[in-house]
Amino acid sequence: VMGYIIDFIESSTFNRLKQVEQVIDLVPSVNDELLTLAHKISKETASFLVSCIQVMLPTAIKASYQKRLIKNQALEAHELETYFNEKETIDYETVEANDLYKVKKEIQAGNIELKYVVKNKLKIKKEKYVKINELQDQTVETVTAKLSRSKKQQEAMIYLYQIKERGYTELLKKDLLDAVDLGTSSYNALLKKGYIREIEKESYRDPFRNDEVTERKRVTLNAEQQNVVRSVLESSIKDKQETFLLHGITGSGKTEVYLNIIKEVISKGKEAILLVPEISLTPQIVKRVRSYFNDEVAVLHSGLSQGEKYDEWRKILRKEVKVVVGARSAIFAPFTNIGVIIIDEEHESSYKQSDMPKYHAIEVAKWRANFHNCPVVLGSATPSLESHARAIKGVYNLLTLTKRATNMDLPNTSVVDMTNEFQNGNLSIFSDELKDAITEKLNKKEQIILLLNRRGYSNFVMCRNCGETVMCKNCDLSLTYHKRGDLLKCHYCGYERYLVKECPSCKSTHIRQFGIGTQKVEEELLTLWPDANVIRMDNDTTRKKGDHKRLLDRFGNQEADILLGTQMIAKGLDFLNVTLVGVLSADTTLKLPDFRSSEKTFQLITQVAGRAGRHKKKGEVIIQTYNPKHYAIHLASKQDYDSFFMKEMSVRKIGKYSPYYFLAQVQVSHFDYNKMMKDVHKIASLIRSNLSDQAITLGPVVSQISRINNRYYSQVIIKYKREPNLSPMLERLLEEYNTGGVNVIIDMYPTFL
Ligand code: ADP
Ligand code: ZN
Ligand code: ZN
Repeated sequence: VMGYIIDFIESSTFNRLKQVEQVIDLVPSVNDELLTLAHKISKETASFLVSCIQVMLPTAIKASYQKRLIKNQALEAHELETYFNEKETIDYETVEANDLYKVKKEIQAGNIELKYVVKNKLKIKKEKYVKINELQDQTVETVTAKLSRSKKQQEAMIYLYQIKERGYTELLKKDLLDAVDLGTSSYNALLKKGYIREIEKESYRDPFRNDEVTERKRVTLNAEQQNVVRSVLESSIKDKQETFLLHGITGSGKTEVYLNIIKEVISKGKEAILLVPEISLTPQIVKRVRSYFNDEVAVLHSGLSQGEKYDEWRKILRKEVKVVVGARSAIFAPFTNIGVIIIDEEHESSYKQSDMPKYHAIEVAKWRANFHNCPVVLGSATPSLESHARAIKGVYNLLTLTKRATNMDLPNTSVVDMTNEFQNGNLSIFSDELKDAITEKLNKKEQIILLLNRRGYSNFVMCRNCGETVMCKNCDLSLTYHKRGDLLKCHYCGYERYLVKECPSCKSTHIRQFGIGTQKVEEELLTLWPDANVIRMDNDTTRKKGDHKRLLDRFGNQEADILLGTQMIAKGLDFLNVTLVGVLSADTTLKLPDFRSSEKTFQLITQVAGRAGRHKKKGEVIIQTYNPKHYAIHLASKQDYDSFFMKEMSVRKIGKYSPYYFLAQVQVSHFDYNKMMKDVHKIASLIRSNLSDQAITLGPVVSQISRINNRYYSQVIIKYKREPNLSPMLERLLEEYNTGGVNVIIDMYPTFL
């Protein structure tokens, strides 16, 4: 097992201590600030300390060092290094396939014992450079004279001397070979004769290697924007750490504000962290940040390879960059002199990690900011209820941007009642109004974004005769239909089977899928407008690295008329020529059994509507819904955040939900249903007996999805205001259980109940 040394003590109360077998590295991976932070996260989120340290480090340096039983187990090609009992190291890359085979045989014969396999251990990338081997009295003339019979070699040396004159002492080997069209044998001859030397240098895997940095014209900030920048910068010289909520309507120039703040901060020699929801979905923002700060930027997000992430992380560690743009985990960037932390689209649920440690990036940001005494800026057009409530209470400083920066008005919005369409005989996915609008925009060569709100909308298969749905065999969940391969898949455990042709229960053949997917919408689009160019963006079309960027670039370059997609197209996009946004099914998120479902619906519609008419041409938004009177939809169509906030706060107050109460969720699971039930009842009464009368403990209840991968789940929910006993009690729970019996997981920021 790999562990972390975090302290030394004289004696221990444990009685079965083991020896450390091997020390992996001698330079600490986590500095004092981050180690203290790990303790804090462990305490505040009730998770194991080790998981809090692990979450701060790139996967590459966490490579699992495993001791393995090797009998009959072949070495895998990706197992790069093997350590044998004599501590001899064999480097896979230098082992010929044949030798590897021999090694395997030796292991199998028991002649050597495989002790450790380091899986996926990442190499530092090295590249070869060439430099002139300076000998006494050597000049370009003397060298060329000596090489008069080998023209190519002569040319290469002349080139190297020219380069040197321009101030470069070395050159990438590859570049030299390319520049003078030098063959490897001539190159080797030069090496052998001692005219040149070869050196190996570490280099970074560059996630931007295919992207040019584009110049963007710098804008002059308007008065509102300047005011925001000033307030944040003034805060950084105060003694007390401050958090700002920047509430600015879509297109009000928040991003431009962030960039200006960062510019000032780094000009003072400090560092900046900019978090964005899920960066692989928003390559546009990276482009904008790089156009400002170019080489001083590192990025950290799930779209990078392990090697790229490792290298970006090391650039931060070595202080070779000043700015980090990244998704949630970039909050742990190992900077030591942070001047500002900015969290864009702060309401997004992706800032909460759903695995252990279940931390919220906003909370971690505030803890780090406290250490560095720097401001935190939370930006959004639709702030979370929690953040806005805090701003109103004065816990955060509220800053607002009320106008679109381009001076465009917000788009005109209309809400279409789909029940009317149905009653009037329109069975299409598109209402008549949306059809007309699409036709008009296509004629005018303007672009269209169509959102299919698919959350909570499963594409399940149901029997029309008996109502049976096809379920996963491991989970209490219906399977989802995938057109590619005609498969039914479980999105939780990965189980898949072929589409059934007859009902497993009543044998009727009237079994078919319900619900619409993006593929189906695309088909209907192409039937109605055969000449339209459609880009579809969903999980299926964005599987590979770089797919998001490629599709968005194509749309940005106006190579398509319509961008059709799921939630992933709602955020942060800024396209010049988009004048129509259609929301195909506004209400699917409303039906989620989640106390935040209205908030999520309001945010989604407001955000996607904000993509229309951002530049020069006025935009139009059409929202299709079966619940036109629902306040979330009605108020989102008017972009009326304040009214929504008031209304939703009253709903939360009655329901005793956040932000009036803090919430905690204790989840208990086991393969044996009875064992799980017995223990969860014990846990629930323990919780009840430890909390004050003010706290409300709900449950235990069987979780919404009660069985996943043959494990049974149940939960207890705690609503509380101030409970000093809670945290220590949850820590005890965590330690007492999780030792082979039921599994207990605690979530202090539950997002889905
Ligand atoms: P937000 O992040 O609030 O959605 P952006 O920063 O993306 O807004 O700004 C929207 C558009 O307005 C962008 O194209 C941006 O370049 C432009 N913009 C921002 N600030 C100004 C300004 N002061 N003057 C002119 N254009 C601006
Ligand atoms: Zn399953
Ligand atoms: Zn049936």
